[in-house]
Amino acid sequence: MRSIGVIFNTNHELHDYMLKGFPSPESPVRLQRIMQHFRDNKVLENNNCKVLNPVSASVQDVLRVHTMDYFSFVQLCSLKGGGWLGNDTYLCEGSLEVLLQAVGSVLEAGKAVATGEHDHAFALIRPPGHHAYADHYSGFCVFNNAAVLARYLQQVRSYSKIAIVNIDAHASDGTQDIFNADPSVLCISVHQDPSHFYPFKGFIREIGFMPAVGYTLNMEMPPEAGNSEYFIFFEEIGLKVIEQFCPDIVILECGFDSYYKEGLSKLNLTMDGYYGIVSSISSKWRTIVLLEGGYHDDIGLLADMVLQALSGNRYTKDEVDQMHLLASRQSSCRRIFESKLNELKTLMSSYWEI
Ligand SMILES: [Zn+2]
Repeated sequence: MRSIGVIFNTNHELHDYMLKGFPSPESPVRLQRIMQHFRDNKVLENNNCKVLNPVSASVQDVLRVHTMDYFSFVQLCSLKGGGWLGNDTYLCEGSLEVLLQAVGSVLEAGKAVATGEHDHAFALIRPPGHHAYADHYSGFCVFNNAAVLARYLQQVRSYSKIAIVNIDAHASDGTQDIFNADPSVLCISVHQDPSHFYPFKGFIREIGFMPAVGYTLNMEMPPEAGNSEYFIFFEEIGLKVIEQFCPDIVILECGFDSYYKEGLSKLNLTMDGYYGIVSSISSKWRTIVLLEGGYHDDIGLLADMVLQALSGNRYTKDEVDQMHLLASRQSSCRRIFESKLNELKTLMSSYWEI
């Protein structure tokens, strides 16, 4: 059985919209639910997991990606008590502490895999990071956890090529923006069509800039796309491109809001879908999974499923509410999906053998 390092940022409750009186689905309940589910079901014991101790990242770690001006703004704003920043993002008095421990936890996860202590790692941290740019916050995200980890692996652990794969329902626009001219980092994002959906970026035509044209891939999933569409995407494009890129490691930006019961989005991944995607990646490459979004009550079960996939086990049946799933299924979904898949294939065939 593979060994998995699991890490939580233990101080995350200091980052809580209730402390500022702003409504937000990005709340401490998310991680509390996961931890409760893990305790109640002995998830860590069943999956050969070891809990790693969280540490805080240094300012220098954060500055591998973010600008000093931006870091100073976050620091000052948090120390002054925080507030509503706009773009769905808030800060509290203790947020800087939380953000630094989230980044530090992600780096510990990276270190555990890079040193060979564990085969894979799962960092259960909040707030999420994939909408954060080098110099601004967005969509609940302040520091870009995946980007800081990628730079740490390159600059401290001497890794040369990193693949970052996003399966959150929302496009990984911040991560893409940070690496869009860097051919040492491949960015693949599979998300709900952003035409009418946050962050309104991440279109198929966004493929990166010189000298990294073709190293950014965005797959626009039509609303109601589910397991079979995701599996086809990974089989026909995603995994082929990662194989040709030949990364030293894969960072998976794992949002659970592509789940079929999620209220914020209209995708239809089930437990089987998450299991299949995580397995297909982690059976080929060392993988560090980072928690991004996901707001449904089943978040604990979904995180459990990711650990089962990482460890190569399967204990849990996919108890799909077929009525719920079928009620939302549009007959046009597959047709639109195939058209978008072909559009991406045509565009990417100039850069990869697909
Ligand atoms: Zn999301």
